[in-house]
Amino acid sequence: MGGSYAGLFAARVLSDHAEEVVVVEPDVIGEDGLGRRSPQRRQLHALLSMGHRQLERWFPGLTEELVRDGARLGAGDDVRFYVDGRLKAPVAETRMLGATRPFLENRVRRRVGLLPHVRFVRADVTGLLFHRDHVTGVATAAPADDPSDGRAPGGRTGGTTGEEIRADFVVDATGRSSRLDDWLLRHGWDAAPVDRMRIDLGYATASFHRGGELGTTVIAHSTPGPASDYRPEVTEPGALAAVEGDRWSVVLAGYAGYRPGPDPDEFLRRMRRCVAPIRTVAEESTMIGSVDTYRFVESRRRVHTRLRRFPGGLVVVGDALASVNPVYGQGLTLAALEADALAAYLRTGPRPHAPALPYFRRAETAVDAAWQLSTGADLAQPHVTGPYPRGYRAQKWVADRLTRASVIDSAVNAAYMRVVHMEAPPKALTDPRLLARAARVLLRDR
Ligand SMILES: Cc1cc2nc3c(=O)[nH]c(=O)nc-3n(C[C@H](O)[C@H](O)[C@H](O)COP(=O)(O)OP(=O)(O)OC[C@H]3O[C@@H](n4cnc5c(N)ncnc54)[C@H](O)[C@@H]3O)c2cc1C
Repeated sequence: MGGSYAGLFAARVLSDHAEEVVVVEPDVIGEDGLGRRSPQRRQLHALLSMGHRQLERWFPGLTEELVRDGARLGAGDDVRFYVDGRLKAPVAETRMLGATRPFLENRVRRRVGLLPHVRFVRADVTGLLFHRDHVTGVATAAPADDPSDGRAPGGRTGGTTGEEIRADFVVDATGRSSRLDDWLLRHGWDAAPVDRMRIDLGYATASFHRGGELGTTVIAHSTPGPASDYRPEVTEPGALAAVEGDRWSVVLAGYAGYRPGPDPDEFLRRMRRCVAPIRTVAEESTMIGSVDTYRFVESRRRVHTRLRRFPGGLVVVGDALASVNPVYGQGLTLAALEADALAAYLRTGPRPHAPALPYFRRAETAVDAAWQLSTGADLAQPHVTGPYPRGYRAQKWVADRLTRASVIDSAVNAAYMRVVHMEAPPKALTDPRLLARAARVLLRDR
């Protein structure tokens, strides 16, 4: 259910285990990679190192293809991270892809469409079918907002709508607005408990012509850190990426009363208060098209492992499972890691009709890491009021010092970036050797 990034990765994984995989997606995703739904596709999407690694694992050679067609791959100095306006020490191993989300997703969709036993059906899922304690398929209807023109989103048409589709195993990849809880409740099951953190984030993305103004820079990313205590008027948080079509994609972010709006002049004014690469693009490049805004009210995760019972033959991936503050660029990587958890689960040879609790436990490890990092950082914003995890003050004290040390010292930053890029778990930041090094670095700096 859902043929966007998470659904496509899940389809790829399932294609190794199933006789047939049916991707049910109501939206027509055009050549431009945009559809009517999931408007976040228009916002700058960074792919973390782990996300890039997963992309190559499941779609070998795709990076080369993307780069050949205009995407950029940045490593070391080409990837610039700033905290409180200060450039962090470079990390040679960091690799990040500069591409727009529609471009990346379309290429993944094309690859999935070429798999021999994957079929796309253009329809809205309207509910689940059950037999006793397990799911046996989905009920579908013609897409409500867009009368069917017979095109399937994967290129290969393969089914009519308004029918029941029988399946041994069903994946919910319908994104943040998933209606799975309602469908479960309707059949006497419990909805998964939800953790939430209200962050009241505003996002705005615009494109610019790209020439040689920033040399080999592929990514520049600037966040508030411990020194600013979030004072955007000091250094505006934002990011840019060199993307296909010789363009820069630039995003600005702001919280509560400081959300960026759609006015291009205001966007340019705010860019001029950003770190040097973003300022340079504002000064030297021309904006293409309009400014697209997006409001993200809360981070949210559903915790199925807290349920006492759950139907067999059903799993949840992507934003339907967990959707966290996009500023940290984790969503696509998380979706891929959940697909990875699904692959590991399926490799154990489970009965398809068994409750997939082992999958949810595996996926939870990745979700926990993303949740801990993003909500931990969000709690430092003055307008975010909790919930605070146990030991928060001590954690923040350590995290602030590690962040400061990571600006100055490459080794501390390398360990820090492995966690930020989801290649190491957050607990790697409590390694005593790392903490001792950070302490030495800060003492010397003083
Ligand atoms: C402003 C913003 C910026 C972001 N930036 C980044 C970033 O820099 N890096 C990053 O990694 N992540 C980023 N993310 C997160 C990323 O966009 C999401 O994690 C990602 O889209 C999740 O993919 P998904 O497939 O789970 O959901 P979606 O992409 O939302 O797709 C859900 C799909 O399900 C379909 N669907 C919905 N209902 C039904 C139904 N009833 N039946 C069948 N299909 C249905 C929809 O049509 C859609 O295609 C950002 C998010 C936002 C909001």
